[in-house]
Formats: sequence, C-alpha cells, structure tokens
Amino acid sequence: MLGIQVFNYPNDYKFFKDECVEFNFRWLTETLKIDPGEITFVEDVWAGGGNLGPSIEYFVRGMEVGNMVFMQYKTFHDGSREELDIKVIDTGIGLERVAWICNGSATSYQDTFANAYKYLIGVLDVEVNEEVWEKFGPYSCTLDIDESDDIDKAWQTIADKIGVDVGVVQKAIQPVKEIYIVLDHTRTVMMTVVDGGLPSNVGGGGNVRNILRRTFSLMKKNGWWDTLGMEGFLKIFECHQMDLEGIYGKFPEYKSFALIMQVEYDRWKSSDDESVKKLEKILKQRKGQLKIEDWIMAMQSYGIPADKIAEVAKTDVPKNLYYEIALKQERTAKKPETVLYNTTHLPPTELIFYEDHNLFEFEAKIIDVFENVLDKNKPNIIILDRSAIYPTSGGQQHDTGEVKIQGCAGTYQIIDAVKVGKAVLHTLDRPLEGYVEMFKGKKVTVALDEDRRKQLQSHHTGTHIVFAACRNVLGPHIWQNGAKKTIDQAHLDITHFQSLTKEEERAIENYANRVINDCTKISKSFMDKAEAERQFGFKLYQGGVVPGNELRVVNIEGVDTEACCGTHCDSTAEVGWIKLIKTQRISDGIVRLYYVAQERAITIMNKEMDIMNALCDTWGVDQTQIEPTAIRFFNEYKRLSNETKK
Ligand SMILES: [Zn+2]
Repeated sequence: MLGIQVFNYPNDYKFFKDECVEFNFRWLTETLKIDPGEITFVEDVWAGGGNLGPSIEYFVRGMEVGNMVFMQYKTFHDGSREELDIKVIDTGIGLERVAWICNGSATSYQDTFANAYKYLIGVLDVEVNEEVWEKFGPYSCTLDIDESDDIDKAWQTIADKIGVDVGVVQKAIQPVKEIYIVLDHTRTVMMTVVDGGLPSNVGGGGNVRNILRRTFSLMKKNGWWDTLGMEGFLKIFECHQMDLEGIYGKFPEYKSFALIMQVEYDRWKSSDDESVKKLEKILKQRKGQLKIEDWIMAMQSYGIPADKIAEVAKTDVPKNLYYEIALKQERTAKKPETVLYNTTHLPPTELIFYEDHNLFEFEAKIIDVFENVLDKNKPNIIILDRSAIYPTSGGQQHDTGEVKIQGCAGTYQIIDAVKVGKAVLHTLDRPLEGYVEMFKGKKVTVALDEDRRKQLQSHHTGTHIVFAACRNVLGPHIWQNGAKKTIDQAHLDITHFQSLTKEEERAIENYANRVINDCTKISKSFMDKAEAERQFGFKLYQGGVVPGNELRVVNIEGVDTEACCGTHCDSTAEVGWIKLIKTQRISDGIVRLYYVAQERAITIMNKEMDIMNALCDTWGVDQTQIEPTAIRFFNEYKRLSNETKK
C-alpha cells in the first residue's frame, strides 16, 4: 500500500481536496496513461477518532485503486462540529493493483510475484488455463467464505455464468490458487523473519509457524515437496527477493535463513502425523464436535493449521476462531505493576551517574522521606535532589552505598534503590531516628560501593558484547528478549530456534573475549530519536522501544549500538574477561545464556581450576591425564559391577 499524508497548518497551507483530486487524476491519466473514461471518483463521508470529513475513492474499470480521506472537522458528543486547526489528508493507494491494471494480467499475483510465480509454475509443471482464469477473474470475489453461506453453490453459479462445467473450472483454478497461497505465505514469512520474527508457539511467532506449516501441508498434499525439496523451496525466497528488489533494494545476506526453514520443516515433519493422531483422539472423545478450545489447543500446542483441522474434523473453520485466540492472548497479557509510592509532587532526581559514571562520592540534599510500605511503614526511604546511585532498571541491579547525614552520628547503608516516576527512592538499612520532618533539607554525603558498581557495570557492558557475539555467530535473527545483570552473574535471553551447540557456545565466548582484547572505545550520548534510528536502525531497541523524542545511545564502536540507560565501561577492556557458564533453551524460540565478567569471571575460573587441581592430586596425574583416567575408572567400575552381578 502506498500512503501519502499532507498536514495543512494554519500558517503553512499545502493543499486540500480539490488539488488532491486533481493531482491523483493527473497521475492516473498522464503518468499511468489510463483512459479518463475508465476512471470513477466516488465521494462519501468519513468519520473516526473524533474527526470528520469527506472521503473520495477512485476506481479504474470497476476496481478500487485508492482513496483519500480529508480530516476537516473535529466532532463532539452532542453532534456539533468545528473546523480543525490542522487539516490532514490521508491517502492510500494499492501499489499491487496499479501494476495489475497497467499490465492487464488475469490476476494481480502474476504481477506481484512475477519471478516467483514463473519459477513455481514452471518447476511444478502446473498447467494454467488462461481462458478459464480470464472468465473466472471478475466473479472470484463471490467465493469469499465470509460473505457466502454455500461455497459449492457459489462455484456452480460462477460456472453457469461463464458457461464452463463446474468440474473444469475447479480443476483449472484449484492448483493455481494453491500456488498463489504458497507465494503469498512464503513472502509473508520471509519479510517477517527478515524483520526479526521467528516461528515459535507463542504470540507473533505462532503466526509465523502457522503460516509456514500451512504452506508445508499444502505442498505435501500436492506432492510438491517431492519435486522441490528444501533446495527448491528456498529458491522461492530468492525469487521473492528479486521481485521486491525494485522497492527495497538488494536484500542483505541473511546467514541463518535457510537453517531456520530447515529446522522448522524437520520439526513439522516429525510431528505432523503424530499431531493429527492426537487431534483424531480428541475428535473421538468429543464425538466429532470440536469445541473452540480444542481448535485453539490443536493450533497452538500441536501446531496444526486451522484448515488442516477443518479437513480432519470434516467441518468449517469456526467464524469466531481468531477472535477467541486474540481474546485469550489479551487475558494472559501481563497486568501493569502497582505503584506503591506517589512521587508526582517531587522534582525529578538529578541522575549524576550519566554525567560521570566514575563519581563514587557525592553530596546531596534530602528532599523527602517516605515510610516503607513493605517494611511496617518504617521511615527508611530517602529521596535526594541528586544521586549517583543507580536504581534497579533495564535489568541492571541497583548500587549500594554509605550515607552520612549532616548533624547525625553514625552512618546508614543504602541497601536498595528504585526509580518511581522521575524520583529515585533510596532504602536505608534502618529507619531514620527521631522526628522525620527535621531530616528534610539536610545535607548528606554518599559513598558508593565502588567494587559493586564496577562489577554490575562490567556485567552490563558484557551483556552488550555477548549480544553482538550471538548475532555475529548465529545470524541476524538474534534479538534480545530479556536480560538481567546482578552482582553474581548476568544472563541474556535471545531469540533463537534451537539449543546452542558446544561449538556455538565456544564461538560466542571467543568472539566476546576478542572484542574485550581489542580495547574498543564505548561512547554514551543522548541523541535525537529520529537521528539515532537513521544512523543505527531499529537494532537499537534491544531493550524495548523507548518513549519520548530522545534516546541514550551506548555505542561500542563497530560492535554494537543500543538505546540503553544503564551504566557502562569506557572501554571493552574494563570488562576484563567473559566466562560463559551455561546456556539453556527456556522456551520455544528463546535461549538463555548465563555468564560472568570481570572479578566474578576470575572467581569462577579459579573455582574450576581448584576442581582440576584437586582431581590431579587425588589421582596423582597431571591435567592432560584427567580425562583418560576418568574414562579408565569408569570402564573399570562398569566391568567390576558386571562381574559382581554374575
Ligand atoms: Zn543495556
């Protein structure tokens, strides 16, 4: 779809209805050379979102090509309206329809999927009865299952109208129609995967899997797998890229694409028959009448496409199926967290760790004291006008520190810090003693736990490096799905379609440590959002989309650039070393990597060394002999226990 939007400001008028209609008419007749006699403009009223105005659709030879909506008025509940200050034109044009009309082909698929269509029709040797297609085209819309109650009757009506036997019409249409489905579905899958989606059994990934499995089963039904094989199937995607190059330019190489398709195909193949058997069992239990929950379970848990279920159950796909699926997703959506403290009356805490993340001691003023609702309402939460204490956010654990309050004997420990609204709440190890009001306005000196901050910071920068390593080793389908950086260890969840192999784990760890050895500079800056997106693309948003017009961009030069509000090292060298501890497939399509950096990496590596040394001492061998000795012991043990059994 092509879109054109025009914003007319009171002091900057561009154009409105009359000019817009004229421009579109001139484009149709002068650029596309369409005979004016074949063009129809239809004017109607459009209303939505509290706005109102005229809308004009235009048709060429009976087909709608585009429409223009003119938002002219603001409407009110009592039915009154007033002129909008900013008048907006919103135009939508069917890009593929334009190509279709200009080429005059039987269906728009032949223009939209030119190369892919030619390839599939050719290699699968499907006969296209152009004569029937030409006649069938104008009536094809009557086969819409949403509009027609009796599809068989609709086929018969078409056959009667075009004067061809219904069997002949169906034989001519059916295989080509199924080629169109394969073309449409494979392109959808390709664009989704290139944009970072992966097949899985949840959310959007579930749609990718369903579309792909529907394609697989359609190809199986027609015996097309035998002709194409995986190689021929992948060729469809190459053809799609050729067809889209004029719009998108050349597609960058997508290292893992073929593997994603292969893994998904293998999974479907190994579970296809089994899933259908499970479905048949349910069908028997339900005496042939599936409930809506059965449909959803068969789709989401067994991965059977809706039309395959319909085929097995010998029934139609329920009209409310997708509505119910959406409803179920809504119900399981996370509820927003309850906010325990009201901070709207407070000025924002000045976050001085952004100016200088190496500032480990600072002075500030107490501006408020809160009672801790989670700890018997003790007054142990202080809010400062400025703070270098990083509050837990973006998966990074909070800093701790020691507070000295002016005029008070002794010190308090900051044991927790969270950001509520724009204020940082510092939790102290014990309640303030005495009349709470008197603490407001008092000066404090805070000393951060420097080692803790440096460890957390290394785990955070290390996370960005591990992410870059995963993308480099595994492919561009890797996106961050979550991350946590605590003092003990860090973990990163990535979108990936199968468990990691030992070789992949090793390659990721090695890549990360080479980045550390390169002592790459890390810059942090606040940037205009649009400018940052232009420079670095949407890859920026690994931690989720950031609201507002400004982003804090953390750039490990040439390695990774992310919008991130955490504290970070100045050079990758400060991370010291990354030690991958383990990886785990935590759900379908998500793999978690656990690792440690800096001092924690040294501790863990020392522990591993201790184990090795202890083994060497006990067995009286050197390191190289640990493995052969263990194997020898194990074999000996098996032999002895076998003998004892005898
Ligand atoms: Zn980050």
